[in-house]
Amino acid sequence: GPGLVAQAPPPAAKEAPVDCIFCRIVAGKAPSKKVYEDQYVLAFWDIRPRAKVHLLVIPKQHVASLKELDELPVETRAALLSACVRVAKDQGILDKGFRVITNAGKDASQSVFHLHFHVVGGEQLREDAI
Ligand code: 5GP
Repeated sequence: GPGLVAQAPPPAAKEAPVDCIFCRIVAGKAPSKKVYEDQYVLAFWDIRPRAKVHLLVIPKQHVASLKELDELPVETRAALLSACVRVAKDQGILDKGFRVITNAGKDASQSVFHLHFHVVGGEQLREDAI
């Protein structure tokens, strides 16, 4: 009979790592308080808000951090920043001021390795931290 057939290697697991919490949120497999969604991006409340308004804006497509920004289609890159402004406006913090932050890598204390922008405001923010 036929011998062992070599298994094709699995496709490069680039898209949606099953252990990525933000990919799980995008897929609807983990809960989140969504505030905005389109075909490119998702925005939702940070689970541990550190300001009156603390939202996260993420690409639906998985990349680990801003370091990998160029792996995203240009439409997604544009949608990310536009969504930051849009959710700030929807939260009523556009005029008083808000902050957009992304932590990339170890020195920045990045803790979730799916690119995200913190949109923070609704109160006077310190000069040196969110
Ligand atoms: P980082 O430190 O990587 O810049 O930020 C990660 C952020 O994600 C933190 O502010 C943390 O509170 C938030 N976060 C971590 N896990 C979850 C989660 O499961 N749901 C939500 N909504 N936010 C999360």
